Amino acid sequence: MKDTAAIRATNLELEDWLAGVDKSGLPGNFKAWIYQHGILPQIIWPLLIYEVPISTIEGFERRVSRFLRKWLGLLRSLSSIALYGQNNKLKLPISSLNEEFKVGHAREVLQYRESQDSKVSQAGIEAVYDVLPSPSNLFSWGLVESPACNLCLKRGTLDHILSCCLKALGEVRSQWRHDQVLKAIANTISCGIGHCKRLRPVKNTIAFVRAGEKPPLAARATSYGLLATA
Ligand SMILES: [Zn+2]
Repeated sequence: MKDTAAIRATNLELEDWLAGVDKSGLPGNFKAWIYQHGILPQIIWPLLIYEVPISTIEGFERRVSRFLRKWLGLLRSLSSIALYGQNNKLKLPISSLNEEFKVGHAREVLQYRESQDSKVSQAGIEAVYDVLPSPSNLFSWGLVESPACNLCLKRGTLDHILSCCLKALGEVRSQWRHDQVLKAIANTISCGIGHCKRLRPVKNTIAFVRAGEKPPLAARATSYGLLATA
């Protein structure tokens, strides 16, 4: 799916969810709860998968904030800092979409920065997998009340999230994993190309070696990084 189409689809989904919850007739604090535990986790996924400009995220957050203020009976002039901050007087248990987005991206960037070296990346990927915020990990860290998968309510282990959740498999999430793999391959190839360019000899000269002598170091085979093993 094209990024712009995906963003537009997410935008419409957010619109639908907010309007649906708004019209539900539930008490306002229930509506806010549904946002935090139902809408936010759903909306953050596509936003992290595709290239989304921060201005779009801010637009999404403004719309969410308008509803949250209405549902919680707060002043329209109440700032986002007061609405989402955990260190202010209100201490509302609501996360900022913008903040979640930045945290998610920072995690992703760190993961790829570490992956430049193939050995580090292998170890890193395994380590990262063990500490991924899967529902069951979040539950064992005491951050959520249930270890269940958000989509099918089975136990949300990493295994389940990556390959066993039938509901997720049929959806855009399999596209995400596919894109992540392509991203890793593209990174490795572009790294290898850069490496080869640096190693390319300036002139094609023949280094003659006298009988009984060893060739100088520079003339020996040089490593071409991961591409050599491809
Ligand atoms: Zn599931």
